[in-house]
Amino acid sequence: MPASTAAAPAADRALIRGFAPSACAIEESLDEVRAVIAATLAPKVLDVDLKAEYPEAFLRALGQAGGFRGAVSPAFGGNGLGLAHVVRVIEEVAKECVSSAFTVWCQTACARYLQLSDNEALKRAFLPRIAAGEVLVGTGLSNTVKSADSIEAFRLSARRVEGGYLINGVLPWVSNLGATHFFTTGCPVHGADGASEGLVFVLVDCSQPGFRLVDCAHFIGLDGTRTLACHFKDAFVPDAMVLAHPQESADYVRRIKPGMIHAQMGMGLGLIDACAQLMAQSNRSHAHVNQYLDDQVEDIEAALDDARAATYALADEIERHPATPRILDVLKLRLAGSELSLRAAHAAMLHQGAKGYLVRNAPQRRLRESYFIAIVTPATKHLRREIARLEGRAAAMRT
Ligand SMILES: Cc1cc2nc3c(=O)[nH]c(=O)nc-3n(C[C@H](O)[C@H](O)[C@H](O)COP(=O)(O)OP(=O)(O)OC[C@H]3O[C@@H](n4cnc5c(N)ncnc54)[C@H](O)[C@@H]3O)c2cc1C
Repeated sequence: MPASTAAAPAADRALIRGFAPSACAIEESLDEVRAVIAATLAPKVLDVDLKAEYPEAFLRALGQAGGFRGAVSPAFGGNGLGLAHVVRVIEEVAKECVSSAFTVWCQTACARYLQLSDNEALKRAFLPRIAAGEVLVGTGLSNTVKSADSIEAFRLSARRVEGGYLINGVLPWVSNLGATHFFTTGCPVHGADGASEGLVFVLVDCSQPGFRLVDCAHFIGLDGTRTLACHFKDAFVPDAMVLAHPQESADYVRRIKPGMIHAQMGMGLGLIDACAQLMAQSNRSHAHVNQYLDDQVEDIEAALDDARAATYALADEIERHPATPRILDVLKLRLAGSELSLRAAHAAMLHQGAKGYLVRNAPQRRLRESYFIAIVTPATKHLRREIARLEGRAAAMRT
């Protein structure tokens, strides 16, 4: 038995079996992931997109096939392949469906937040089950990140009480949720004088007292992501569910933020790849007119190759140094990923023409999906603002 497996609690050994790092090269593990996508997701893509069907069976099967294990260390049931594996799995799923790829990002992002916390008991209790897809999880950190970057006000607030925190407020949109799910969020802790003592990061049980999921938003794409509003009314979160207390949270944010943003590149890479294929498909019959369009297959493929190489290399670096000082490169690459997604989806639409405008055909879905990549936190405008700030250009811009 590998040493890493021996470190896991006895109850979780069955979940971890067979995923020793030495046995898992990324390519090898992707074969199984691709088989699950073909068998379980491909037949459901139209239902996910047009009927807002949440792909729960696919997520469970992907978990069984090891699709989430890159986000988790071998000691807790991971495969030791790290963020590069996470990105590659999300990319494979996004080739078929960005909505489902986003739920995979939610699952693996939340797993990483746990992995990078110092709460060992919480990691032991949850990570093996999250890695195996037995427990499905989300991440409600958009508001936390945007507020920390001074873009909007915090929507949640916490108060320290005996043995934990009481949380109040509403997060309007958190995906990959349900009655049996869990998710992470972070918010300021306010003292008796109302002043903020720093951020607390917690894992929330969707079935806990004082917490309610409310189904209120419907979207033009990504509607199969089970995106729900999260209402907290004096919801008690015990210390056992805390990922980082206020005195730990500045370091914690530095550790989780680069990987959180970078893993989203998987959605862009998969979508761009799919769009290049749609363009090539159209060229089989319409190359004689498609040649007059601005972006050709080779243009999109060349840009995709560059983005892929940069993404995989940076993923390995973030895995080695989660709080990498190269945050500017992470933001710039993520921005390039959004811009190339929009460009590729636009080109696929123009190549396919009216065929692509049909409700059951992929190009118009890809266009809607590409806008999500460009607006989910960190959105294009958020990225440009942060890049300007880090480059010292913010003062010259309008606030
Ligand atoms: C399909 C879908 C799934 C999403 N899933 C998640 C998720 O899993 N986790 C997560 O944390 N966020 C999620 N979000 C929120 C997302 O990441 C952005 O925060 C949100 O799109 C607002 O960004 P913006 O740039 O439009 O905000 P802004 O332009 O700054 O604000 C636009 C308006 O939206 C409101 N708003 C701003 N931020 C939010 C927010 N986070 N939620 C709700 N309303 C907001 C503002 O008050 C304002 O009225 C999801 C959004 C969509 C569309």
